[in-house]
Amino acid sequence: MKRRYSELTEEAKASYGTSENTSDDTWLYCTNCERAMRQGDCVIGEGENLRCAYDDCASQDNLAFQSLYGWDAYRQGLGHEAVQWPDEPEPGKRYTGAGAAP
Ligand SMILES: [Zn+2]
Repeated sequence: MKRRYSELTEEAKASYGTSENTSDDTWLYCTNCERAMRQGDCVIGEGENLRCAYDDCASQDNLAFQSLYGWDAYRQGLGHEAVQWPDEPEPGKRYTGAGAAP
């Protein structure tokens, strides 16, 4: 049975620290599949890592946590490459910053 971030206790949510905001409504960005998701939809994987919400995301469980970033923070990090990115992303849509791939 999959557990989602939204089902965690407040303390457990804070321990993940993907975003400074523990709200389920916070937008996160996955650098692996280049899609955005609500933090509350993220899945707790085996090994208790926070995983991307999309089942078809190919990130490995032990690396999944490192592919999730706060939407706003990631956008700001990209700077001008992300000027087209909206304040509120569309779930399932891919957002790519030109030359942003690490
Ligand atoms: Zn993903």
